[in-house]
Amino acid sequence: MSLGEFQLIDRFFRNCGAQRTDVAVGIGDDAALLDCPPDMQLVAAIDTMVLGNHFLAHFPAESIGHRALAVNLSDLAAMGAKPAWALLALTLTKADPVWLDGFARGFSALARKHDVALVGGDTTSGAFCISVQLSGHAPRPAKMLRSGGKPGDVVFVSGTPGDSTGGLAFELGKFTVNPPAGVTEDVAAYLRQRFHFPTPRVELGLRLRDYASACIDVSDGLLGDAGKLAQASGCGVSLAWEQLPASSQLVAVAGETRAREMVLTGGEDYELCFTVPPQNVERMMRELPDAMWGYTAIGVLGAAPGALVTRGGTVMDFSHSGFDHFAGACKA
Ligand code: ADP
Ligand code: MG
Repeated sequence: MSLGEFQLIDRFFRNCGAQRTDVAVGIGDDAALLDCPPDMQLVAAIDTMVLGNHFLAHFPAESIGHRALAVNLSDLAAMGAKPAWALLALTLTKADPVWLDGFARGFSALARKHDVALVGGDTTSGAFCISVQLSGHAPRPAKMLRSGGKPGDVVFVSGTPGDSTGGLAFELGKFTVNPPAGVTEDVAAYLRQRFHFPTPRVELGLRLRDYASACIDVSDGLLGDAGKLAQASGCGVSLAWEQLPASSQLVAVAGETRAREMVLTGGEDYELCFTVPPQNVERMMRELPDAMWGYTAIGVLGAAPGALVTRGGTVMDFSHSGFDHFAGACKA
């Protein structure tokens, strides 16, 4: 590498992210020393991004830095945890200062927004791969596990899932299903932004501790992830087609039907899917107004296992090939 490993760490990562007083020792020793509040549980997550699988070489470096942290912030949000400390394992084919600068800026901006300190990591040369480990804390007892849902609980989702997949389809030039003729540039820009700079719902996750029975972050598609939550809770889930929140931008490029299919199966949304016992719903809607927090009731947990979607009260059949074909066509 033209840039030495230690120079690289010094230049791009020593002052990356927030400064926190609970970091007794950060970057520079063999390991970080962190002060966890005594009555809290440590919450930890890690996510790896592999070139070709999770990002492509021409994606903006700032977006890659943002997403590498955002996916972990989203995992902590789903646990109702407050994020605090990140570790970054970076494997690079070459030390390109322009790329590193963009990556560190994207990472740092999001880290500072959520008061996350970068406390260490590892830098190696090899096949392009990025792992971020994020720790934080949550008060005991643990709430918002995937397993806390009960039949009758109302299922909600934040934001407008599917936008990220719409943005990726633009990015990859894959809008072959419904050519977006006449789609304005700001619609395309909005969807691209949702893919490149997803918004992890950290604050919502913290607030939901007071209302939700279970929570999962939507990274692999809403229907599948809602199904995982339901299964972990020993339930099934039924989502209502009419209630699925497709953004007007996604509807503009894909049409109403495709847009809703993308809400159900698109990946990398980093929204929260959560369940609320019926007796908590009214209080939540009053104290966390949906107009402000941007969530929508989309279905209900039931006793029978499985994940299904109803339309006009009838169970929909998603086995036809167009649906799967389209979902597959949008993967990076
Ligand atoms: P060791 O060999 O003991 O694992 P290194 O020499 O690899 O330590 O790293 C020196 C210091 O720099 C350590 O504190 C490590 O956590 C930190 N570090 C290394 N790479 C990164 C990185 N990409 N981002 C942040 N900190 C890093
Ligand atoms: Mg060491």
